[in-house]
Amino acid sequence: MSIDDEDDLIGMRAAGRVVHETLEAMRAAVEAGASTADLDAVARRVMRERGARSAPRLVYDFPGETCISVNDEIVHGIPSARRVLRDGDLVKLDVTTELNGYMADAAVTVAVGRASELAGRLLDGTRRTLEVALREVRPGRRAFEVGGVVEREARRQGFSVVRALQGHGIGRTIHEEPMMPNWADPAARGLLTDGLVITVEPILAAGSGDSFESEDGWTILTADGSLSAHFEHTLVVTRTGPILLTAAA
Ligand code: MG
Repeated sequence: MSIDDEDDLIGMRAAGRVVHETLEAMRAAVEAGASTADLDAVARRVMRERGARSAPRLVYDFPGETCISVNDEIVHGIPSARRVLRDGDLVKLDVTTELNGYMADAAVTVAVGRASELAGRLLDGTRRTLEVALREVRPGRRAFEVGGVVEREARRQGFSVVRALQGHGIGRTIHEEPMMPNWADPAARGLLTDGLVITVEPILAAGSGDSFESEDGWTILTADGSLSAHFEHTLVVTRTGPILLTAAA
């Protein structure tokens, strides 16, 4: 969507705030011995308290409130009481909420206890890649230009991007135009305009970046079993720089 008036901005800020608060509560619950279902229960409680709903459940009938993906699981992991976190795991928390008709989406990667040297570099590097990409977001840029910056930064650090997944427009529903790939995809001609609401979400892998879908029909994993990391914000494109809707206020 594009922000047309003050009401849209207020609505998107409120949806983004719930996403941020949900992620922070989940992050605080990440520890060895917790299951991904435990983390999802934390998210359910926060969303319910704020009057928000899980957008993936609402829109796609996803079997969970949030997507929680561990190690070689890249995205769309299904929360499960059987998936118990262990020291050194790399956990991707991906939250999209709907509040009063507005949707916002963000993701963070968290290490359980002490991360390996590689996991730590991948986590920090993916966060940094998001920061670098955000500097490219302004009216007049096209989607593939931001994607090119993401891939260049990932490669500079010795990592690859997962091309099967991408950022997107958002607001009235989860996935809207334009698509925001994490590489200089020549097909991604989408123009960034003042007021446009999009996600920017680098998804990096320590290996090739190739991926496949699990038999569960949801989870996407790295083909070579390598680690992946994911950071995401929902933002408004403006002339004076992006307004991050899912960051701390
Ligand atoms: Mg997203």
